[in-house]
Amino acid sequence: MPKVIAVSKTFTIEKILPLIEHGHCDFGENKVQEALEKWSEIKKNNPNINIHLIGKLQTNKVKFAVKLFDFIHSVDSKKLAKKIADEQLKLDKKIKIFIQVNIGGEDQKSGINKSDLNGLITYCQEINLNVIGLMCIPPLDDDPSKFFKEMKELNQKYGFNELSMGMSSDYLKAIEYEASFVRIGSNIFGLRY
Ligand SMILES: *Cc1c(COP(=O)(O)O)cnc(C)c1O
Repeated sequence: MPKVIAVSKTFTIEKILPLIEHGHCDFGENKVQEALEKWSEIKKNNPNINIHLIGKLQTNKVKFAVKLFDFIHSVDSKKLAKKIADEQLKLDKKIKIFIQVNIGGEDQKSGINKSDLNGLITYCQEINLNVIGLMCIPPLDDDPSKFFKEMKELNQKYGFNELSMGMSSDYLKAIEYEASFVRIGSNIFGLRY
C-alpha cells in the first residue's frame, strides 16, 4: 500500500489539525521557512509525525531544513547532497533522501538529468546519505504513464524500496507503477490560491 503524503503547503495549521487528530502522520511542505513556522511546535508534541520536504532546497537553507524534516524528496546535485550530509552529522540525524529525477528532460525543471543520475547516486552513497528512492514530477502536458514506467524501472535498477511520485491529478497512474509515496495536496485540502 502506498503512503499518502498530505501536501499542506499554503494551508494554515487550523486546516491541518483535523488530519493530525485523525492520526495522519505524513505531511508535505515545499518551503523551509513556512514549514518551520507551522510544524516545529507540533512536531515536539507529536513525535510520530513525518514532515517531507518536496520543494526545491537552496543550499543556504539546508541547515534549517535538516532540523525539521524527516524526508527530503528534492536532492538533485552533489553540492546539495554534501551540504545535507555535513549538516545532519552535526545534529546526529539520518534524513531519508529521495533523489529527484528530471524524467521528462525539461529545461526549466528541477531534478537531476538521467545521464547524471548514476554519478549522483554513487556520490550520495560515498558520503553516507540514506537514499531510499527516486522522486519525479512528470511533464504537465503529457501522459504521465510512460514517465512513471521509466521511474519504476530506474528504481528497480538501483534496488530502491521507495518511489515518490503521483499528485492529485495522476496518483492512480503512479500507483500502477508502484509508487510507494504519493503526494496529494488539493484533493485533500482544496484549491490553493
Ligand atoms: C504541490 C505539490 C504536490 C501536490 O500537488 P496537488 O496537485 O495539489 O496534489 C505534490 N508534489 C509536489 C512536488 C508539489 O510541489
